[in-house]
Amino acid sequence: MNCPGCGEVMIIVEWAEVEIDYCLRCGGVWLDAGELELLLAGSLTDSKAREHFLAAFHHVAKTGEKKRKCPRCHKVMAKVQYGQELPVLFDKCVKEHGIFLDQGELAALLTSAGMRTDEPVFTYLKTLFQGN
Ligand SMILES: [Zn+2]
Ligand SMILES: [Zn+2]
Repeated sequence: MNCPGCGEVMIIVEWAEVEIDYCLRCGGVWLDAGELELLLAGSLTDSKAREHFLAAFHHVAKTGEKKRKCPRCHKVMAKVQYGQELPVLFDKCVKEHGIFLDQGELAALLTSAGMRTDEPVFTYLKTLFQGN
């Protein structure tokens, strides 16, 4: 699969049962539908907290960010924002294939979701993303 951000072929890394597509060139991350929920499930065991987090995503009509295409269906993805104070802006397939996060955005998103930074998944992501 090619990176929606820069076009480079992405590699697949695995965390627990979750397959993460990762771009070695730009550090972007593609998560298929449901994978973000899986990443969160280990830490946000309270399903209410997870629902609350996911419900707080909202679409942004106009941004300065470049439009990207879904690597699965090649349709232009929507821009979705999470959070108000330190918003994370990312791409989401309109057909719900998944989301694309620029380097650092996955960690920012997980932190905003209330995940503690000493969670194993964080340690893993840090090692992975600092490796290049
Ligand atoms: Zn890339
Ligand atoms: Zn798609």
